[in-house]
Amino acid sequence: MVGVSIALHLQKRGRDVVLVDRRGAGEETSYGNSGLIQRGGVIPYTFPREFGVILSYAMNHRSDVVYHLSALPRLAPWLFRYWQNATPERIGRSAQALAPLMAQCEAEHDALIAEAGDAAGALVQRKGWIRCLRTEESLRRAIADARRLDKYGVDYTVLGGARLHELEPHVSEKVIGAIHFRGSPTSFDPGMLTKAYADLFVRRGGRFLNGDARRLTQENSGWSLPSASGPIIAPEVVVALGPWSDDVFLPLGYDIPLAVKRGYHMHYRARGNATLSHPLHDGNGGYMLVPMSKGIRLTTGVEFADRDAPPSPIQLNRDELLARGLFPLGERLEPAPWMGRRPCFPDMVPVIGRGERHPGLWFAFGHAHHGFTRGPLVRQRPRSSTAIRLTLGCPKRKLVIRRPAPVVVASRWWPGALGHRRDRQRSANSASTEPLCEHRRHPRCHLRGDRRMAVDDAAHMLTGDPAGLGEGGD
Ligand SMILES: Cc1cc2nc3c(=O)[nH]c(=O)nc-3n(C[C@H](O)[C@H](O)[C@H](O)COP(=O)(O)OP(=O)(O)OC[C@H]3O[C@@H](n4cnc5c(N)ncnc54)[C@H](O)[C@@H]3O)c2cc1C
Repeated sequence: MVGVSIALHLQKRGRDVVLVDRRGAGEETSYGNSGLIQRGGVIPYTFPREFGVILSYAMNHRSDVVYHLSALPRLAPWLFRYWQNATPERIGRSAQALAPLMAQCEAEHDALIAEAGDAAGALVQRKGWIRCLRTEESLRRAIADARRLDKYGVDYTVLGGARLHELEPHVSEKVIGAIHFRGSPTSFDPGMLTKAYADLFVRRGGRFLNGDARRLTQENSGWSLPSASGPIIAPEVVVALGPWSDDVFLPLGYDIPLAVKRGYHMHYRARGNATLSHPLHDGNGGYMLVPMSKGIRLTTGVEFADRDAPPSPIQLNRDELLARGLFPLGERLEPAPWMGRRPCFPDMVPVIGRGERHPGLWFAFGHAHHGFTRGPLVRQRPRSSTAIRLTLGCPKRKLVIRRPAPVVVASRWWPGALGHRRDRQRSANSASTEPLCEHRRHPRCHLRGDRRMAVDDAAHMLTGDPAGLGEGGD
């Protein structure tokens, strides 16, 4: 979703864009998610801080989060940073950075859906999604969490059991209340919606080619990548490979703390005449049940494991047991579960910006639980003279660099031939030559002349003015 959307935005600005993927569009993480365009996803999911909760996660018996013991030594440094980012101050900082993006997500999707045509429109419904709660205590906490979203303009309402059962008559009577997030559109088929956006890109003259981003090389003339249709040479390239972005940035010498939170899905038939019309989040179980074109999709919470370790869908089995108590699910519709990987930074804020050590290199990845929501937002904001605020790990202060907002780019890989245009000239003229960090002695702020890009809790470069609901909320 991220790469396709960026390709479309660049194309609109008159650039000659090639979108390269080793598969078809929307066939990886953007295929298998819960399909929420989650307007309310402003406050990031965080590491728990209460001892009792940490202990319960450590037991590895939970339904919302599980982990591979064998992967812990490799994941520990990232988890430590994740834990560090769970203080109220840091959560506030992430929310402030994400809020302007989330505020526009619905409008940006609407614009692309309208341009993509009826087929795209038919993949989206506008009834919102519902978080179901089984106990008074969890309902109270969910209401308090929802209230934290008031200042971000998120539209929700609290439902009593009776009202919920009017909306969803087949949901278990054990659910005593719910939060209905009315302002979030949802998709019956997120993979197909991504493909509809990619088709729009091709209809407008864009090229979609198959190729392997790991073969990208820097040359005198810019960047070169072999593709199924011959080599692609481009002065600028955007890395938007989602969870696979490190396959490209690590060999280029960037040390960026990207990890994955894995998740699974399975489709089910409904039992008897049961129907489900809203996506449901089980606030006590951490999974979702979503009406999709292929059946009712159960999506799990988080599995911490090595990105490429074989699937171990133990969490799906746990969630399925709980889900059968929430809604009358029938049999599974697929022989094996799908597995996806959420590309995550420790503070859940994505990287969108230049690879400072390489001219013409751009990064756009790390959208974690909300990449399907935010994909279309990865672009230059219309106000061309805005400052770019770099939210780095520097504890002393944020850095503001005055220069016109740059173009932000891409998906998987994708070299776009951007040369010979006014935009390119402007981008070259505007490139800052001043040091990006005023605290160069601070170990986390080596932006230039060092192998690290930006660092700490993630290198983030968000255009515009930056301003937990528990894992598995997507
Ligand atoms: C279970 C689950 C539920 C979720 N629910 C939601 C939700 O409801 N709402 C939401 O907003 N987000 C949700 N997410 C998160 C969301 O799906 C991701 O953040 C988003 O899909 C990431 O998009 P992306 O374009 O960055 O990555 P991807 O969609 O994974 O795209 C990366 C692309 O890179 C390509 N690629 C990889 N390596 C190479 C290579 N070497 N060469 C060429 N191409 C390559 C891949 O083929 C792929 O097409 C969920 C995630 C999961 C796992």
